[in-house]
Amino acid sequence: MAKSDVVIIGGGPAGSIAALSLLKLGHSVRLYERFRFPRYRVGESLLPGTMSILSRLGLKPSIDAARFIRKPSATFLWGVGQAPWTFSFSVPRVSGWIFDHAIQVKRDEFDALLLDAVRQRGGTIHEGCPATDVRVDYDDHVEVDIDDGSGQQTISADFLVDASGASSILVKKLRCRKYDEFYRSLAVWSYFRRPDPFTGDLRGTTFSITFQHGWCWMIPLKGDIYSVGVIVDQSKADEIRDCGLETFYRRMLDQCSRAKEMLGDAEMIDKVRAVRDWSYDTSIYSRGRFFLAGDSACFTDPLFSQGVHLAAQSAVSAAAAIDRLYGHPGEIDNVHRWYGTSYNLTFEQYHEFLASFYTYASFTEPESEFWRRRQIAETVDARFERRRWFESLLQKAERNADWRIADFRDRASTMIAIGRHNRSALSSDFSDAELLPRRLEWLSQLSRKLNSLTQLSWVGEKVVLQGYYKVNPETFVLEPKFVLANELGRSMTKYAVEPAVADMFCGLLAQPIGYKALIKRMAEVGVVETSSQIVVRLFEAGLLAGADANNQPVRIQDRLRFDGVGVEYEV
Ligand SMILES: Cc1cc2nc3c(=O)[nH]c(=O)nc-3n(C[C@H](O)[C@H](O)[C@H](O)COP(=O)(O)OP(=O)(O)OC[C@H]3O[C@@H](n4cnc5c(N)ncnc54)[C@H](O)[C@@H]3O)c2cc1C
Repeated sequence: MAKSDVVIIGGGPAGSIAALSLLKLGHSVRLYERFRFPRYRVGESLLPGTMSILSRLGLKPSIDAARFIRKPSATFLWGVGQAPWTFSFSVPRVSGWIFDHAIQVKRDEFDALLLDAVRQRGGTIHEGCPATDVRVDYDDHVEVDIDDGSGQQTISADFLVDASGASSILVKKLRCRKYDEFYRSLAVWSYFRRPDPFTGDLRGTTFSITFQHGWCWMIPLKGDIYSVGVIVDQSKADEIRDCGLETFYRRMLDQCSRAKEMLGDAEMIDKVRAVRDWSYDTSIYSRGRFFLAGDSACFTDPLFSQGVHLAAQSAVSAAAAIDRLYGHPGEIDNVHRWYGTSYNLTFEQYHEFLASFYTYASFTEPESEFWRRRQIAETVDARFERRRWFESLLQKAERNADWRIADFRDRASTMIAIGRHNRSALSSDFSDAELLPRRLEWLSQLSRKLNSLTQLSWVGEKVVLQGYYKVNPETFVLEPKFVLANELGRSMTKYAVEPAVADMFCGLLAQPIGYKALIKRMAEVGVVETSSQIVVRLFEAGLLAGADANNQPVRIQDRLRFDGVGVEYEV
């Protein structure tokens, strides 16, 4: 017998992955989808982290059978006259959940594959059944009104996952959406017939190319199809009204010379589509008996293809949270706090990542109004105002009163330098191996810095063990854990620790020690493989500070990070 009955609104990746995770955890699910599948959806370029989740849900065989295009990396032509750089996914597969590639998918096929898997595993699916109203204020159940084609009916369930995307009726009702001024953009896109022009390590990559009016994506799909889109300022809507969508689209592509070159005389094979106002987050991620997952909660700018991964990650987390609440109803406040905090951290980290790359392009596209307006200093987004948003995000205000706009650029440029190609033109000769020396150089710089730390001290007066949760990577069960924090409210949630680790850090309150000694002590309390990552994360969280033998403060440079691509476990 199923543990509890969960209703899911929406059959996109968030809805299907929430359903698959809940079924794995022994719950029964009913999923209501407005359309009949397959249905069109933009958002074709995935991340390795999503592969990891899908594979742990047992979907690898069906994904392999679908023979989607393998995506080894994302390649950027980011700025006038800049050599290409590649964000490569090739990492050592140190565990079963690390993937060194992603896939490029036609979403009608991919989303239908996921929904079919839900059906095959015993989930009840109602296609062509839009939810028309939702009531979430009861203590012990939720109610959803459904239009099943023959009339309206009300259903009730123990919990609700709202995975209905950008048009969520629950979010409208709660009035909790916050639109993002920084990315007030407009996307216009279509499809071309064109075999992938590259062999070697560029084959299957996603291209993102800046130009005067914005940037352009090029994604190779199965069947020699290229998805090609341009992101421009929303003020271009007037021009679209005057000249029509297709003329505008072709005009923009003409001006993005490197995309034009790659497309050659390829034939356009679909209509031109457009969307605006897609960057937003929310003030409520979950409450009582409902959870928002995927685009219904938040989405920001498709530059680094993170939408489906955010959907997948939040869906697993929502399922794990519901499972925990079923068995431990008294933990309701803690579980919701964990869900909102961890979801928001992932979103904000991505936001920061994007802000850095947009600001970088504002330096390398100096003639462009689009890019000038997206420099962090120019934005009217309240969260960026006077950089308060950024400072509070990284708790930098106290530590680095001298943050400058250029810091955003420099953080992006460190990453760009690691992925920079050896030649200035795109070429099939590009090999991932040419990036290796730069990666190693970056790592050795980091380890030199860490090793130069002779006095590491804890920031604050107390080492606090803060209650948190982590999703077990294999079972998807939400497990209570501890993370390190201080009395000033700073915490490092990425890695859970045992109480003995906190005790060990207490030693730093009385007596600072060097990095090597710290690593040795961490090993004594059982932290071996992740010790240096934990130290770097503690620096980033503002919980550790350090100085070298000359008593000079050492700043461990924060690396730009976002979930879905790294070797660190997420959910
Ligand atoms: C221009 C653009 C480009 C993008 N490119 C990428 C990319 O390259 N890579 C990437 O990862 N992401 C990309 N994204 C984002 C990505 O498409 C989304 O983040 C992703 O689809 C979110 O999945 P979801 O399941 O939350 O929502 P959706 O995929 O939108 O699914 C929601 C589902 O809910 C259904 N629904 C809606 N209302 C109701 C209702 N009332 N009742 C029942 N069903 C309902 C809808 O029909 C839909 O099937 C892009 C987005 C945009 C705007």
